[in-house]
Amino acid sequence: MPSPLRVPRPLMFVLFWAVLMFNGLFVWIVLQPGPATSAAPTNHEPSRPLEGEASRFEFRQTHMGSEFTLILYSADEAKARRGSDAAFARIAQLDAAFSDYQPESELMRLCDQAGGPPVKVSSDLLSILNRSKSMAQRSGGAFDPTVGPVVRLWRRARRTRELPGADLLAKARDFVGIDKMTLDDQAGTVQLARKGMKLDLGGIAKGFASDEALATLRRQGIRQALVAGAGDIAAGDPPPGAKGWTVGIAPLEAPGARPSRFLALSHACVSTSGDAERFVVIDGVRYSHIVDPGTGLGLTRRASVTVVTNDGATSDSLATAATVLGPEQGLKLVESVPNAAALFVIKEGGKTKAIESSRWKTLPTASPKSEKAAAVVPTD
Ligand code: ADP
Ligand code: MG
Repeated sequence: MPSPLRVPRPLMFVLFWAVLMFNGLFVWIVLQPGPATSAAPTNHEPSRPLEGEASRFEFRQTHMGSEFTLILYSADEAKARRGSDAAFARIAQLDAAFSDYQPESELMRLCDQAGGPPVKVSSDLLSILNRSKSMAQRSGGAFDPTVGPVVRLWRRARRTRELPGADLLAKARDFVGIDKMTLDDQAGTVQLARKGMKLDLGGIAKGFASDEALATLRRQGIRQALVAGAGDIAAGDPPPGAKGWTVGIAPLEAPGARPSRFLALSHACVSTSGDAERFVVIDGVRYSHIVDPGTGLGLTRRASVTVVTNDGATSDSLATAATVLGPEQGLKLVESVPNAAALFVIKEGGKTKAIESSRWKTLPTASPKSEKAAAVVPTD
């Protein structure tokens, strides 16, 4: 059972920092509610909030290999606990279905039947595969959930620090291609054309799960909530008295420096993709855990993309796709997705460059009151 953290008034200003770091360059995400409206009790101040007044609760659990944080406001502690239990149970359920690490997951059992007839799957799996397929088609295959065999070779390369052999890479690439995955919504089935195919939902599952957890909280009557699955964030109604959740995102040259951009987000999802922490350096070249399905190679371009959209599956998969495509083509893709906004951070020749999509410039902004009391939480 997670214990909720009630934050005293002096700490109400800044509640959560997620730091996404790459190559000496930092993208900070600061989540901060608006002005405090309740005197939440602490050890030193055992007062209860006034009746009907919302307190802030924070819960954390690890799922999908990442820490998920729920921040919510409720006047009723029992309701807050029930809501967070249900939200985490939903994330755990999705993890059990979507994992490519657990051989018994629904996804891996589906892959075991690749090359065979169509397989009946759960509505969750069918739904995320539909979302994955449409992003694969939209992005010309830059995001591709069939990339599993190639990703596995690069996971091994990270352990052994040896490049995957060209023959192995060529063989793995034979199993990749969204046309090899057929979905039948009427029958509720998925057919994988070739034995040996492996699906990988690592570029979309956390965004999907954060959004689903937020929907679970909403069904429990908790609307002023935010769910962060590492760098994949879903924001619901704003905190009491605020116009949105303050999400500060800034490409920085040094850790600890103040973010220069702050968004005030509600009913929106944010995802960041990039070569943050999972990479391998071989012969002086840094290969990312994100691979280009077109070449089978881990990305070597130094870039990070933050995407804001209406739903988590789109934010997460679009951020991955845009990272693969790079700023020029990636920007075109982002502009073509309804309601999507993106910030590209690129490091070239020792210089850092930020490129904003047209909708990014119109996102509501915020100015945080203080960051002194921030807790710093590295993601991934
Ligand atoms: P993070 O997991 O750091 O949030 P992403 O959302 O970009 O980053 O997801 C990266 C993961 O997605 C990889 O670890 C891998 O499992 C998978 N992946 C890598 N390259 C691709 C790709 N081109 N298309 C779809 N999934 C990918
Ligand atoms: Mg992603």
